[in-house]
Amino acid sequence: MKRRNTLRDEVILTISNDGKGALFGNMQSGSDIDKKNVEFSPITVLGDLLTTTNYVEKSIYRQDNYTLNQNYSEHPFLQGKKIHGVLEKSYFVALVTLQDVFDKVKPLTMNEFEIIRQFHSLNLTHRILFREENPMYGMTDLVEKHTWIKNSTTERYQYKTLDYRESFDEDNMLEQLFSAPYKFEYRCYRLEDIIFSVLHYLAFFKYKFAKCNHCERYYATQTYKTKYCNRKSPHEEYNHLECEQAVKDIKQLVARRKKSIEEHLKVNYKDLADDFHIKYHELRDPVKTEPTVENLNKIIQFTDKTNIKKYWYKKENRNPRTNTGAEYKKRQR
Ligand SMILES: [Zn+2]
Repeated sequence: MKRRNTLRDEVILTISNDGKGALFGNMQSGSDIDKKNVEFSPITVLGDLLTTTNYVEKSIYRQDNYTLNQNYSEHPFLQGKKIHGVLEKSYFVALVTLQDVFDKVKPLTMNEFEIIRQFHSLNLTHRILFREENPMYGMTDLVEKHTWIKNSTTERYQYKTLDYRESFDEDNMLEQLFSAPYKFEYRCYRLEDIIFSVLHYLAFFKYKFAKCNHCERYYATQTYKTKYCNRKSPHEEYNHLECEQAVKDIKQLVARRKKSIEEHLKVNYKDLADDFHIKYHELRDPVKTEPTVENLNKIIQFTDKTNIKKYWYKKENRNPRTNTGAEYKKRQR
């Protein structure tokens, strides 16, 4: 049987406790993947996979409804031919699973992960490595003298695996996980192994799933206190900021504009103040619950100087007190 989405070489995926993910080729394989490591964020990388495709419902088989979009090869897991073979149907079946996991919102249990492992015939293996200071770091002379010492002298840290002694103590083990620097190391043989390695990590730490209120892309989170992911905003003028900060800045800009418009209206166009207030809130209120690029742009455009000058600060709308034009005279009659 032809193995689908088979990697040319074994690929190692690591996720460390500082939230950084990396992919690299097996150092022994001599492939050139190891020359170019790929970095990713485990929080957003799976959600981004869904944005490598367009979904149009045309078949009852959901995997048949995906088509790759142009930018798919920019995704860290799909970069270049070195990392994957040709994208086969099983990739799209994996996307269906991801979509279901994201929609579930709740964390994935390890038992549920086991179902996924079997359903997708995953071959991934993993181990958890703890970082500790390498006592032989820099001790070249000593190590040369004592050939039984196997430590490297150039690496500051060394990694050891979980320690099993006498009894299981799950709490103790988990405590260790959270207190010492660690990394999860996965060995992957197919593209699906790479994808679901990240899901395994997220399930292990009981991550929940959410859709960002601003960029509308899926991400993993341990708290629902914030409604935003840590991606850069898709708004073209704010794409140097993360989603939450971009929304904050836009809201502040709009609030400043509103204040100055209202002050100007009060003095010069009193009759219009109420109308403005109503129209403003028509566009501003949806932003409270759905601060999407589209909704934010509506209120940005509405409060834009050119727009306000054109539709609100018009001669014929001026207050009688300050109006010396025809409109004022007409009103006097
Ligand atoms: Zn976002």
